[in-house]
Amino acid sequence: MSDTSTETAVQFRGEVTVDLVKHSAADSDVLWAARVSTAGEQSLEELTKDPERSKGLINYLMRDRHGSPFEHNSMTFFISAPIFVFREFMRHRVGWSYNEESGRYRELQPVFYVPAQERKLVQQGRPGKYEFVDGTDAQHRATTEAMEASYRQAYDAYQEMLAAGIAREVARAVLPVGLFSSMYATCNARSLMHFLGLRTQHELAAVPSFPQREIEMVGEKMEAEWAKLMPLTHAAFNGNGRIAP
Ligand SMILES: Cc1cc2nc3c(=O)[nH]c(=O)nc-3n(C[C@H](O)[C@H](O)[C@H](O)COP(=O)(O)OP(=O)(O)OC[C@H]3O[C@@H](n4cnc5c(N)ncnc54)[C@H](O)[C@@H]3O)c2cc1C
Repeated sequence: MSDTSTETAVQFRGEVTVDLVKHSAADSDVLWAARVSTAGEQSLEELTKDPERSKGLINYLMRDRHGSPFEHNSMTFFISAPIFVFREFMRHRVGWSYNEESGRYRELQPVFYVPAQERKLVQQGRPGKYEFVDGTDAQHRATTEAMEASYRQAYDAYQEMLAAGIAREVARAVLPVGLFSSMYATCNARSLMHFLGLRTQHELAAVPSFPQREIEMVGEKMEAEWAKLMPLTHAAFNGNGRIAP
């Protein structure tokens, strides 16, 4: 979806994107860290000797919440998502590093979030017991039309102020939290598991969480990348109720 009526084409997106840009993360990092406490210098050799034992050790660490061996790895993601997602994301303080694009040093681009057709629109139930159900076509239309009109008006006001010589850091105040932003986020497996335990819904979760769907979409994409890098750790996370060690 795009609009060319304004000078800069306004774009509406219903998807978030997550790219794994850099990583140093493997199951062997967990084993190395865990075994160094008992095997000392010989621990590297031990890693490949007995795969079943390695799997068992990772599962034991996860189950008994020995968390620190899961910290000796690193993943850097480039994430593009609406500002309201980043507001939630940056509440995760421990084991995360962030850098987000600046609205002071560059002109913000007109890319805005509009829920895709499959996004459940209607909330039912009471606090703590909400469930979301599909919206009707009319509700989807009303949402799309209201958001697009509001976004266009806000971005026009932003452009008018910039054209009048107003500083970007002042003019950006009119832009809504549905504006897309981008950031680098670096974490390790332990901090990612804590994030996933809170920001995804999963049938294997021993402690269910009820995250907003849009941050969950980011979490699901991050989890898919992490699972490829650390399959044993990911399986142990799932096998132990998706509770971060
Ligand atoms: C479904 C959902 C709804 C939410 N709703 C709201 C809301 O309405 N309003 C709102 O403000 N927030 C809300 N939050 C955010 C939530 O309160 C947390 O800030 C967020 O989930 C980050 O969790 P965390 O503090 O465990 O993570 P991190 O900041 O990464 O911390 C990780 C862990 O480190 C420890 N830790 C970190 N800092 C401290 C500290 N200062 N003192 C002691 N221990 C510490 C804790 O064990 C913590 O679990 C919501 C989160 C979820 C998942």
